[in-house]
Amino acid sequence: MIIYKFGGASVRSAEAIRNAARIVSSCKEDLIVVVSAFGKTTNALEDILNAWYADDDRRFNMLSECRLYHTGILQELFKNPEEPLFGVVSGIFGNLLNKLETKPSGNYDYDYDQLVSTGELLSTKIVSSCFNSLNIHNLWVDSVKWLITDETYREASVNWEQSLKEAGMNFKNGKFRVHVTQGFTGGSAGGKRTTLGREGSDYSAAILAHLLDASQVVVWKDVPGILTADPKLFSGYEMLPELSYKDAIELSFFGAKVIHPKTIKPLQNKNIPLYVKSFSNPGGPGTLIHETSDPGLTKPVYIIKKNQLLISLMPKDFSFVVEGTLSGIFASFFRHRIKVNLIQNSAINFSLCIDNPGKMIFELMDQLKPGFRILYNESLDLVTIRHYNDDAVEKMTRDREVLLEQRTRNTIRFVLR
Ligand code: ASP
Ligand code: MG
Repeated sequence: MIIYKFGGASVRSAEAIRNAARIVSSCKEDLIVVVSAFGKTTNALEDILNAWYADDDRRFNMLSECRLYHTGILQELFKNPEEPLFGVVSGIFGNLLNKLETKPSGNYDYDYDQLVSTGELLSTKIVSSCFNSLNIHNLWVDSVKWLITDETYREASVNWEQSLKEAGMNFKNGKFRVHVTQGFTGGSAGGKRTTLGREGSDYSAAILAHLLDASQVVVWKDVPGILTADPKLFSGYEMLPELSYKDAIELSFFGAKVIHPKTIKPLQNKNIPLYVKSFSNPGGPGTLIHETSDPGLTKPVYIIKKNQLLISLMPKDFSFVVEGTLSGIFASFFRHRIKVNLIQNSAINFSLCIDNPGKMIFELMDQLKPGFRILYNESLDLVTIRHYNDDAVEKMTRDREVLLEQRTRNTIRFVLR
C-alpha cells in the first residue's frame, strides 16, 4: 500500500488534475490518494468565513467566485452535462449559501472547520469522479469516517486507536485498488468535521500511512524535492537527495514549507519512507526522507519566515518571568491559535517571535496588558540556518539589524529587521 498526497498547487486546474491522474495510473500497487483543496481555495473559504463573521455581504460574491472556479474546472473535465457530479457540487455550494444566509454559531473555530473543510470535500469528489471517468476505478472515502479526532476545532488531535479501527474498515475492503480521501480534515466521534491545522494534508497522509502500515508516502509538489533554500527567495539553492527523519523534523519545525512539521513522526515510528517529488517531473528522483546512518545534512540550509512579529513582555510588578508567568502567556497564545516560532527569556523579559496574525494580536495584547509592559516590532524576518558556518551567517546578516540571536551546535536563528 502506497499513499500519494496531492497539494493544492498540484490540483489547481483541470490540466493539473489530469496530470495527477497520469501519475496515479502509472502506480500499479494499492494506492490511497490524499487530496488538498484546489489551488488557494482554503484561503478563499477563510475569507468567506471572516466576512460571514463580520456580517459583510461581500461573502456572497466571494462564494460565487469560489463556485465559478470549481464549476470551471468541472466543465473542463466533464463534457457531458448529465454527469451526476454537477448536481453533487451544486448541492455542496447550495448548502454553503444557506449557511451564509443564517447567523454564525458564535463558536468561530467550530464554524471554521464546518465551512473550510468544504474545500477538500469538493476537491476529492471531483478528483475521484475524474479518475473514474479516466478508468482509474476508485472509491471515495470521507475523512470524517476514518480520521477520528477530538473536538479541538482547527487544531484537532488524532484519536489513534479509533482511527486505526475505522481506517482498517474503510480502506481494506478488497474491492478497490485505489481510494481517494480528503487531506487536512477529519471528524469527531460524534461525526462533526474537524481540521488538523493549515497545510495539514501532509499530516493526513502520514497518519494514514502509519495506520495502514504503508510501504511509502509520496508528496507531489511544485518543487523537484527538498531544497537548501526557498527558490522564491534565493538563487543559489541545491536539492537534497536524501534527509534523515531528524533533519526533516527540524527543518519543517523551523518553517521550511515543503512538509508539515507533524508529518514525520508517524512515519518515523514505523520506519516508512517519505518521498518529496515534483508533479511536473514525476520521473525525477526527488528527496527521500528516511532513517539513515549517514551523518545527514552538512550543507547549510536556509529557512526564512517573513512578516514576523517580535513581542517582548515585561512583568509590570518587576517579578521574574518564571513558570507560572510563562504558562499564563502560553495559554493566551494557544487560545488564539497563534503559533510561537521562537522564544527567549531573561529574568525580567520574555520575547516571542510569531507569524503576524493581523488584528487578533491586539485582542491578545489587550488581555496581557494588565500584567505586562509590552513592546513589539513588526515586518521582521526570522532566519534559521541549519548546519551554519561563518560564511552562511555573514551572508544572511550583512547590513541587517539583528534583534535577537539564538545558537545551538547545529542551528543558528536570527530575528532581523
Ligand atoms: N487545504 C489546506 C490548506 O491549504 C490543507 C493543505 O493544503 O494541506 O491549508
Ligand atoms: Mg492547500
